[in-house]
Amino acid sequence: MLFPNLCICCDGYISHQENQVCDLCMYTLPKYEENEFKDNSLARKFWGRVRLENVAAQYKLTGSSAVKSIIHQIKYRGNTDLGIAMGEVLGATLMKSTLFTDVNLLVPVPLHPKKERLRGYNQCDLLLTGLGAVMNLPIAKNKLIRKKHNSTQTKKNRYERYINSKEVFCITDIEALQNKHVLIVDDVITTGATIEACASVLLDVDGLKLSVATLATGI
Ligand SMILES: [Zn+2]
Repeated sequence: MLFPNLCICCDGYISHQENQVCDLCMYTLPKYEENEFKDNSLARKFWGRVRLENVAAQYKLTGSSAVKSIIHQIKYRGNTDLGIAMGEVLGATLMKSTLFTDVNLLVPVPLHPKKERLRGYNQCDLLLTGLGAVMNLPIAKNKLIRKKHNSTQTKKNRYERYINSKEVFCITDIEALQNKHVLIVDDVITTGATIEACASVLLDVDGLKLSVATLATGI
C-alpha cells in the first residue's frame, strides 16, 4: 500500500468508506455558513474593489489546523484525489445555494506557467474537476492566464491596481467568455488581491458576470 489508512487531519485510522479525511474530521471542519446571503462577509471584502455577483466559500481557515492540512495536501503534496473530492464538496454546497443557479462557465485562478510546471498541476484545476462534475458545468482552461509571477500589491490605489492587474493576468479568448456568468475558483482567499486582479481583467469582457467560490477563506 502506498498510503497508510490514516486521516490526513487527525492521524486516526480511517475505514475504506472514508476518503483520506475521517468522518469525524469531515463533520467538524469549520464551515463558512454564509453562502445563502448575498451580502456575506466574504462578498463585502470586495465592495468598492470589483463588481461581483455572488461569493461563496466552503470552509473557514482561521483556527483550523484540519483545513490547513487539507489545503497543504492539495497545494504542495500532489494529493489530486483529495483536490477533486474537495471540489465535489464545494460543488454540492453551491448546488444547495440559490445564488449560483445561472453560472454557466467555470474558470480556475491561473498559476504562472513556470510555477505550474514546477508543481506539476494547478490546485484550482483539481477543485474544478470535482466541482464541474457535480454542477455539470464546462471548465474554461487557459482562457485567463497569468503572465507574471509576482502577486498584486494591495497598497496601490484602485487605478494602479487595475493597471497592475493587466500586467499580471490576461485573456486569451474573449469570445469564449462573452455574455457568460463565470464562476472563478480559488483554493484560498485571504486578502482577496488575486481575485480582485483576475476580476479586473475578466470584467472588461462584454456582458460577463462574475461570481467567486473558494475552498477556504481567511475570514
Ligand atoms: Zn480525522
